[in-house]
Amino acid sequence: MSDRPKVLQIGKLLDFMDGRLADGFEVMHLPESGQADFLAQHGAGIEAVVTTKGVAPEVMAGLPDLKVISSFGVGYDGIDAEAAAKRGILVANTPDVLNDEVADTAVLLWLMVSRRAVPAERWARSGDWEAKGAFPLTRSVRGRTVGIVGLGRIGTTIAEQVGMFDAEVVYHSRSKKDAPYRYYPDLVEMARDADVLIVITPGGDETKHLIGKEVLEALGPEGTLINVARGSVVDEAALVAALQAGKLGAAGLDVFEEEPRIPQALKTMDNVVLLPHVGSATVETRAAMGNLVCDNLDDWRTTGRVRTPVVECKSLNG
Ligand code: NDP
Repeated sequence: MSDRPKVLQIGKLLDFMDGRLADGFEVMHLPESGQADFLAQHGAGIEAVVTTKGVAPEVMAGLPDLKVISSFGVGYDGIDAEAAAKRGILVANTPDVLNDEVADTAVLLWLMVSRRAVPAERWARSGDWEAKGAFPLTRSVRGRTVGIVGLGRIGTTIAEQVGMFDAEVVYHSRSKKDAPYRYYPDLVEMARDADVLIVITPGGDETKHLIGKEVLEALGPEGTLINVARGSVVDEAALVAALQAGKLGAAGLDVFEEEPRIPQALKTMDNVVLLPHVGSATVETRAAMGNLVCDNLDDWRTTGRVRTPVVECKSLNG
């Protein structure tokens, strides 16, 4: 690698990251349009990518000298990490630094749904309290069975947090973990036994529509679905249908299939809480993620290794 390698920036970074990157790299920006021409002209010689928006296959193909991708976020469903690994390209993400924030968001959604925080706030603000009296009773989050779908880094943090509410935690993932919670190899069976499902798997083809009609109906008319994973993990049409038919009780959603578009039907439901993909979106956590993105690139520039490689690229990391 050269002393000041060329890095291609895809998407907008936090302001302080621009400064950190410029200290060690020659920064180039992928244009919104005319990408093929840009890559034909400048692609050769670019050794690094920094991205907040994944890397399209045609962009990766247009970078013959690419050696490292540093991605902002822990989910990297927008990058074909297997294809990158085959080409010897290291991919790094930002795990762990956002566990607490995303877990907080999951718990926030669950509390907002159960205690009907949005309609209750509207009741107070609109004057309904004065005009109509007390707000109807809501449901307690205490003593519930909470099924975590994906007991990884964030799922484990969620499990610890919901313990504060006397929850019985159970979980589903492809493999049993060394964890003090009951494991369900069968997701439908877990949905049947749980009051709440909190979904926190990766996105991508493997988990597409993992939560479909059968799981939603097993969760049932008193059940609550919380999704802080990726919109693709939940079959949104099946979710709308189950809510409309009263076959699912309620939902709290931070992520959607076609962001930023949210189905109109969901926007009209009082038993649904919608957030605009803000799971990790605090000043503090985004700064930690931004620093880790830059640390990964700086480490690669000085040692040839990254701090937090994704699992597909671990064997490339020295
Ligand atoms: P981890 O890799 O630590 O955990 C993922 C878990 O999902 C593992 O327990 C894994 O277990 C399980 N899993 C993977 N595939 C499947 C499958 N097909 N069926 C069932 N379980 C599966 O990831 P993190 O906890 O760090 O992050 C999880 C995801 O959270 C990210 O990939 C991202 O999509 C999402 N996220 C969302 C944010 C937001 O803003 N809403 C912010 C940050 C992350 P096993 O391998 O045994 O199946």
